[in-house]
Amino acid sequence: MITFSGKPVSAGIGFGKVWIYDKGGMAVKRRHIADAEEEIKRYEQARALATAELESLYYKATREIGEAEAQIFSIHKMMLEDIDYNESVENIIAKQMINAETAVLQTAETFSKMFSEMEDAYMQARAADVVDISDRIIRILSGEATQNIGDGEKNLIIFAEDLAPSETLQMDKTKITAFVTSRGSSASHTAILARSLSIPAVIGLHREIGKELDGKPAVVDGYTGVVYVEPTREVIEELTEKKRKKDMQKELLAELKSKPTETLDGRKIRLYANIGSSGDLGAAVLNDAEGIGLFRSEFLYLESKDFPSEDVQFEAYKTVAEGMGDKLVIIRTMDIGADKKIDYFGLPEEENPAMGMRAIRICLDRRDIFKTQLRAILRASAFGNVAIMLPMIVSRDEIIRAKEVISEAKEELLAANIPFSQEISLGIMIETPAAVMISDILAKEVDFFSIGTNDLSQYMLACDRQNEKVAEFIDPHHEAILRSIEMVIENGHKAGIWVGICGEMGADEMLIPRFLKMGIDEFSVAPSQVLTVRKVVRKSRS
Ligand code: PEP
Ligand code: MG
Repeated sequence: MITFSGKPVSAGIGFGKVWIYDKGGMAVKRRHIADAEEEIKRYEQARALATAELESLYYKATREIGEAEAQIFSIHKMMLEDIDYNESVENIIAKQMINAETAVLQTAETFSKMFSEMEDAYMQARAADVVDISDRIIRILSGEATQNIGDGEKNLIIFAEDLAPSETLQMDKTKITAFVTSRGSSASHTAILARSLSIPAVIGLHREIGKELDGKPAVVDGYTGVVYVEPTREVIEELTEKKRKKDMQKELLAELKSKPTETLDGRKIRLYANIGSSGDLGAAVLNDAEGIGLFRSEFLYLESKDFPSEDVQFEAYKTVAEGMGDKLVIIRTMDIGADKKIDYFGLPEEENPAMGMRAIRICLDRRDIFKTQLRAILRASAFGNVAIMLPMIVSRDEIIRAKEVISEAKEELLAANIPFSQEISLGIMIETPAAVMISDILAKEVDFFSIGTNDLSQYMLACDRQNEKVAEFIDPHHEAILRSIEMVIENGHKAGIWVGICGEMGADEMLIPRFLKMGIDEFSVAPSQVLTVRKVVRKSRS
């Protein structure tokens, strides 16, 4: 048995045989040509064919996985129409008198290098797309067929170095039980596609996938990220049992989709999902989340080499706002600091970062960065039902100062005639003991509270959440935490605002009934936990 370990990006367990996806045959030979005009014509014909392929892929994707995911193919189609790209190919053909395949390859290299060196994360991601469209044209020019899965094949585990979204989509998914790639990121479109198709996937093995594995039996655990080639009988038995249990759970939970999140005595609870990027939106929708209760916006900063621009942020927030339609999307302003260190913020080293410059403290110190984010969130509010949430609050003064920056951002947008929602609501996270103790005062300043039990536990119980050695002391059932939550709910309700939980404790099946008795109004949990929480709520009384 050979074991590989990677990043699990799409849950599930897939049994089958290894099928190595080989991009071979695409080696481009440089050839001199006699007639540049003829060669440009040949390029134009290939480009037209590529456009037609992308159109049909767009419709296929819309049918199979939905409009939002299909957008990638209309982006590719637009890229094929790019004047600079086409001029570059035609110039290379005409000036160097070489074949179209080589001209496309050279152009792809120049453009993808240019994109990957750009500061904007959205543009960086376009580098892979240029390569994808160029490969398509080269394949058409050289008369290569895409590597198709044979008729008699079934239960295949696709092993590839990396997979472009179009490659994934072109495959007959009824024959595929899992995807495994040695490269790729969890935000890559292939990972997103695998999740939306509910096919288990493991990426980033960071190991070469040898041809000798082709055809061997294998099993992929998309929960742990472990891939077993030629698994032992014990592994097969263990994973068969795990799959049986998980499938049963999934079936039971699927029955809860579109059912109301309501207690036995008829109290309706808001059930939202926590996400870290627009890539998690599919999972939230798939699991029937009634909104986004926590969009951890700092991931946008963590994935970027420099401060993400207002436009980049706006696009990400807008995608989520639009994707959720009229459902609430709570965007938490960046929670940088503590364990989420970013070099370009230039923050000095600290003895005790969890107690140092973090979240709202940085925002109020660096108002320019804060205002850029607020402008982006406000602009996105014109495209859906968006709310702002401030993390790590310890005083009323912080809320007042944050409100000043929000007002400034609003005034600027008004003056520039940029649309946003004037009624955008503002909430705070209750995740420090100070915020708990003065929650009666804070409640008068905001529209909602969301209790961040992850941080509240660390600060309340004096246990660094990053320190494994004290993990055993973080007891979520500790009376101090439970009483704090009760107090916050009471104070929130006295001021007429709703109170939720967005920390991990919100998905604790043992605690949910107790929170409901306390009067909790909302749970925001990982997308995969949404239906479990609904199940517990529907069996409980408030
Ligand atoms: C929390 O602290 O409970 C929370 C939800 O925020 P984060 O885990 O991102 O700190
Ligand atoms: Mg927190």
